Amino acid sequence: MAYEAVWMNDPSKLNKFEFVKMEKDGLDVIRTIIDKYSKEGYDSIPEDDMNRFKWAGVYEQKPRDGHFMMRVRINTGIMTSAQARALASIGRDYGRDLIDVTTRQAIQYHWLKVENLPDIFNRLEAVGLYSYEACGDCPRTIVGNPLAGIDRDELMDTRELVEQVNDFFLMNRDFSNLPRKYKMSISSNIYNNANAEINDIAYTPATKVIDGEEVIGFHVHVGGGLSAKPHLAKELDMFVRPEDVLKVAIGVTTIFRDYGYREKRHQARLKFLVADWGPEKFKEKLIEIIGEMPSAGESKIVGWNAVYYDGVYPQRQEGLNFIGLNVPVGRTNSDELEQLADAADKFGDGTIRTTMSQNIMLAGVPDDKVEEALQVPVLKRLSPNAKPFMSRTVSCTGNEFCNLAVVETKERARLVAEYLDERIQLDENEKVRIHFIGCPNACGQKHIADIGLQGALVKTPEGMVDAFDIAIGGTLGPDAKFNQSLKGRVKGDEVGAVLAQLLNFYKENRTAGENFHGF
Ligand code: SF4
Repeated sequence: MAYEAVWMNDPSKLNKFEFVKMEKDGLDVIRTIIDKYSKEGYDSIPEDDMNRFKWAGVYEQKPRDGHFMMRVRINTGIMTSAQARALASIGRDYGRDLIDVTTRQAIQYHWLKVENLPDIFNRLEAVGLYSYEACGDCPRTIVGNPLAGIDRDELMDTRELVEQVNDFFLMNRDFSNLPRKYKMSISSNIYNNANAEINDIAYTPATKVIDGEEVIGFHVHVGGGLSAKPHLAKELDMFVRPEDVLKVAIGVTTIFRDYGYREKRHQARLKFLVADWGPEKFKEKLIEIIGEMPSAGESKIVGWNAVYYDGVYPQRQEGLNFIGLNVPVGRTNSDELEQLADAADKFGDGTIRTTMSQNIMLAGVPDDKVEEALQVPVLKRLSPNAKPFMSRTVSCTGNEFCNLAVVETKERARLVAEYLDERIQLDENEKVRIHFIGCPNACGQKHIADIGLQGALVKTPEGMVDAFDIAIGGTLGPDAKFNQSLKGRVKGDEVGAVLAQLLNFYKENRTAGENFHGF
């Protein structure tokens, strides 16, 4: 360990898993997978190392019978067509063709075997992609503006900053043992395209006049996160120039590493430290580490569109366009991803972009190629004008593959969206966002949805059955708030009908100008 691990001083303040991490760094499991477990098979993996698999971006899938899920980091959600083809081929060869887009812009596989992992690591690395630290108690995928570089609504192109911060933290053993997972976002989009408030550290667009000149930079927010105790990130009174983004990230991550709580895992996220210290004390400590910084400037966030872009939009570059496509509940497959890669090369700039709303975009399409691009067969299912509910439904993995899930989510979410699209008509531009999660961990970000559904069980005469708690009215941006729970619990097979009733009630009773999160 290259730094002084101050938390080791008092072992009574450490939970059991901290000792597992101290005994062997999570990153070391990658070499053990390659050299040993991939050769000796699933049964050779002891429990402690199985728990360290997360640092390789790999989890055991449900049921625990030798199959794994894997997340691949896609920095700021932008991949090249070559990377997309590599991802598609891995899905086809090892992942039964399933490819999920996650709410953190990552690509997720299922059905992998430990024997496959070295080849998958190699194939990813060959195109500059990594699953390493996509999970685990470490800095994970850095999310960002998927429109970076082409966005009419960003103050600056953040791609290089994301790469710089990613390159510093990825596989950095000074920061591979944090108290808990650690999520970063960097975006300069004025509509909060990286959902800043739910990250451990988030950079949002801001300006400040310094020495008579207006400087474009960022405000920094710390301590956001969801799960059972959701917190909105708190803004620090600080203006961050682009050249200081990495320095601030190192400072905040150092505070988390050295002062973050390691006693109880469910109270270990940075949000608990920030809540206890408050933003002023947190800033003081940060300044102690990184030196003086200017106070906050003017925030340039003007709203939040939940990273939804259906259809064709002009880019910052004259004559070029991006096309937002719906990926129903975030699930696609190898064939579709390959077809998108071909379309990106033939009609666009060769990139494919993933969003935190689990969707995909093609970019760099010249005006005179838009019509032809829209005729590509894959756009029939991954539609640029999906029906309103299908286009706004997000789901976590659920008990199809996730060991923590209480209920099934993804297929149910798709069916509920279809059901509502057949029955409920809202105004032209009014779309209600519905998020499903299978347990309190909230990977499907239920708290920020217009309608959030959290899986639970309910007792019936026939025994325990899948059910959901419903919460309404979540939003981010200037009026950020988490949704509020309604009383009662709805059986899984009644969710569609209950939501239809709820939406009809809303249509009939809303006041003029009221939108869904005005509840
Ligand atoms: Fe699994 Fe729960 Fe996350 Fe859904 S929210 S993927 S059920 S851990």
